[in-house]
Amino acid sequence: MPCNISYACLDCRKAFKRPVHLQNMPEHAPCPECGGPMHDFGRHFKAPRQDDIKQWKKVRFLIEHGFRFQKIRTGPGHHDTVPYPDTLEEARTFVVTYRRFASPASVADDAD
Ligand SMILES: [Zn+2]
Repeated sequence: MPCNISYACLDCRKAFKRPVHLQNMPEHAPCPECGGPMHDFGRHFKAPRQDDIKQWKKVRFLIEHGFRFQKIRTGPGHHDTVPYPDTLEEARTFVVTYRRFASPASVADDAD
């Protein structure tokens, strides 16, 4: 059974749901608007409004630091899931605090 995964294009600031098989999930898909790479945001992503530039900046920042809206659990329980930050400012702290949960493939190569 395929399931609906959100892919978003950071340049068009649009998200598209695509039915994919989890065993064979492409990490990137071409954007239907601009042909650029869309990132896989999993099943839990809620796209910001297209004109909400600040929110999209936050999304891009999280992606660049290896956070693709995967669930982050700090403990074994259902309630130990960490909420994603609401603002870019919160995101700056978030990526440092939860660095160990970042997806290694997309960790930005920055020095700070
Ligand atoms: Zn695009």
